[in-house]
Amino acid sequence: MNARSLFLLVFALSLTACSQPTETYDRTLYTFGTLATVQIYDLPRDEAIEIADQIELRLSVLNRDWYAWGDGELGQLNRTLADAEQAPVSDLLGSLIKRSLELRDLSGGRFDPAVGSLVELWGFHDSKTTPVRKPADQDIRSDGSTLGVSVTGENGSQIVVTGRTGIVIDLGGIAKGAALAECARLLRAAGARRALVNLGGDLIALTEEGGPEFRIGIQNPRAEDIAGLILASDGEAVVSSGDYERFFDSDEQRFHHIIDPETGYPSAGAVAVTVIDKDPLLADAAATALMVAGPDAFYLVSKDLGIENAALIDQSGTLYLTDAMQARLVDARARGDEAVLP
Ligand code: FAD
Ligand code: MG
Repeated sequence: MNARSLFLLVFALSLTACSQPTETYDRTLYTFGTLATVQIYDLPRDEAIEIADQIELRLSVLNRDWYAWGDGELGQLNRTLADAEQAPVSDLLGSLIKRSLELRDLSGGRFDPAVGSLVELWGFHDSKTTPVRKPADQDIRSDGSTLGVSVTGENGSQIVVTGRTGIVIDLGGIAKGAALAECARLLRAAGARRALVNLGGDLIALTEEGGPEFRIGIQNPRAEDIAGLILASDGEAVVSSGDYERFFDSDEQRFHHIIDPETGYPSAGAVAVTVIDKDPLLADAAATALMVAGPDAFYLVSKDLGIENAALIDQSGTLYLTDAMQARLVDARARGDEAVLP
């Protein structure tokens, strides 16, 4: 068992590179309801600008099409499913939903994109327009399950919901991971070998073979300090979920945006989770699932999802680490690196 008392660790990311590149191109943009940065270290400035433009354009399309409450494809799909049991879907969105359903199964239903109606009920779907408040207990129904939803048709061209209407599919728990995969693909295609994309704290690192890893400082969720440190190598995504970003406190209780589909209430037990994996979609869904799993099911759900590197901090400040994650944290410290504030 890898639980130990936490006095200096973790969560919500900040980062810096190990070595200073001769020329770094840096683009900041607002997308997916958060700030994003694209840093390209090894391309001439004009090429870096071109690829950053491509990424910005791609992210703006995904931002429109994957937002459950927007005017793009997923918003339209949800509006159709409000009173229909099936709807057409594009290959890209269909495959993302299909993957989400597989991860729902692997996580024992803890990650489930059908939480959309509950996320909306709690008011966490849009930080700008919705006053966030605790809904009446009788309105909180734990029917947020995608069981009965399937992606069918030739090339997965249809979403079918068996036996009910009104499902709201919310990909907020996996979309940033999927977008990071797209960014990495675009960067590699443009010949970038050293780059970092950070979507509101979820990031992916590209490093040249044998080149220095990125040093990722992980912030304490309850304080303005960084103590955890890991090194991210080529293709690794570092993804965090927690109760410290979209939340409100009421009657000395914290209500946050990660909903336990079984109860309909914000998950209890975990304060923050960080997952590292070469599959950014998996890392994103897993971080959300492990928040719901809490410390009791942390090791079991990590294993079921095939996640080797994960860390969880619970309400009392106890840190839970998978064996591989523990080795990485120790390794980073052994190398004498110092955490760097954002
Ligand atoms: P994660 O832990 O990765 O995901 C948590 C989010 O997943 C929740 O916010 C909820 O949406 C969903 N979720 C909750 N519980 C579960 C569960 N058990 N299983 C599966 N999913 C769950 N926010 C705005 O305020 N304005 C915007 O314009 C806006 N645009 C967006 C556009 C896109 C394409 C996306 C994907 C998100 C957008 N958001 C926007 C933010 C979004 O509503 C979420 O807050 C955000 O995705 C949370 O991501 P995270 O990485 O912080 O947390
Ligand atoms: Mg997630």
